[in-house]
Amino acid sequence: MPGSITRETYFPGAQIFREGEPGTCAYIIEKGGVSLSLIRGGKPVVIGTLGEGDLFGEMALIDDHLRSATVTANEETELIRVPRDYVKDKLDHSDQLMQLFLKVVLERFRTTHDNLLRLKTGGTYVDADEAVDENSPEAVRQAVIDKLRFEHELQEAFEQDQFELYFQPIVELNDDTLAGFEALIRWNHPTRGLVSPGQFLGLAEETGLIVPLGRTILANACDALAAFQECAEARISSSRRLFMTANVSPVQIAEPDFADTVCQAISGCNVAPENIRLEITENALLGDPRHAEMALGEITRAGLRLAIDDFGTGFSSLSYLRRFPIDTLKIDHSFVTTMLDSPRSMEIVRALAGLATSLGMDIIAEGIETEAQRGEIRGLGCGYGQGFFLSHPLRRSEALELVRTVEALPA
Ligand code: C2E
Ligand code: CA
Ligand code: CA
Repeated sequence: MPGSITRETYFPGAQIFREGEPGTCAYIIEKGGVSLSLIRGGKPVVIGTLGEGDLFGEMALIDDHLRSATVTANEETELIRVPRDYVKDKLDHSDQLMQLFLKVVLERFRTTHDNLLRLKTGGTYVDADEAVDENSPEAVRQAVIDKLRFEHELQEAFEQDQFELYFQPIVELNDDTLAGFEALIRWNHPTRGLVSPGQFLGLAEETGLIVPLGRTILANACDALAAFQECAEARISSSRRLFMTANVSPVQIAEPDFADTVCQAISGCNVAPENIRLEITENALLGDPRHAEMALGEITRAGLRLAIDDFGTGFSSLSYLRRFPIDTLKIDHSFVTTMLDSPRSMEIVRALAGLATSLGMDIIAEGIETEAQRGEIRGLGCGYGQGFFLSHPLRRSEALELVRTVEALPA
């Protein structure tokens, strides 16, 4: 990963940077405030102040100009520092047309900005207030700042162990036995409470944080499974074991050492690899199918199993089922929750169940929310079910309690 975002504290009067210095980073004010000044006639002239939530120092990051003002902390001030490498990496990966646009816009902004500065230091009042709409530079700027802040929070959350795995039971439908669990990540945010993955996974993927986070997820999922299996075996002796499914993001799979990482995570705990199923989505197979084929081949040779998640919502090319060693198909909840009202959903579920059966694949229907849906899904020959009607995702201790007390375990 390129240079990462850090936090810095400045005391009152401390200079953050000086006019004329090269720019190596931009800052967002988390707490406190700063003033911007220029040396004119040998004396500092304050040209403005900034407070919480403001961004400064960003222009020198994008082009190679020197700092156009000196910035000093007015009080104890906490800043989020965004290093140049970080921005440069994003710019280098952006579209060339966008790079050009940005340079032109910035050049124009500099010219206008310099004119305004001249007016301000000359004592003329300039009213910069304009009506703001969501595409205005101010709104865009705010959105960028919010995102950078969120990214910093996410990084901190990982360092401070604020992520927690929940486990949603998967039930064998013909005899209602507990068959396994799907590991689902949650963020215990210090002020916002429990944050669901839909709100942060996109950014974790974009920043690459999903790679180390994914490793932890896998290791913790295996560790939890070892505990669940141990508890189950203390109750009944059986040749069948509980299984665990864990979601892996396309970004993880694209890593050159993905297969090694997975094998390492498993080797650290006392679970047989065939009881771990990795849930992948079709888009993970699209980008670089040759790499995916090799990595997934290695993983299945190590004994793990592969499930295709959200089946029916993406490209759903049936050739994937031949090309990749997938043995479990998960029917997306959008079909299951609507199947009793929509004949099309019903037919799709029926077709997918038939397909899985004839290919000898396991099938897990997600999103079972009512008894009627469970009955229908069972009638269509789906082996496994998952959904709020059966159980919500549980904390590890609750899942363990379920294994300890549930009526039916795999026999
Ligand atoms: P998914 O893999 O399709 O996971 C199932 C989602 O459906 C979960 O949402 C689960 O809480 C929810 N769900 C379970 N039963 C029902 C039901 O009866 N009705 C409805 N409407 N929903 C139900 P969650 O936990 O918010 O996860 C959302 C998505 O985030 C997951 O979708 C998965 O794509 C991703 N995700 C979750 N955990 C991880 C993880 O550890 N790693 C990665 N890479 N992605 C994850
Ligand atoms: Ca899943
Ligand atoms: Ca799914």
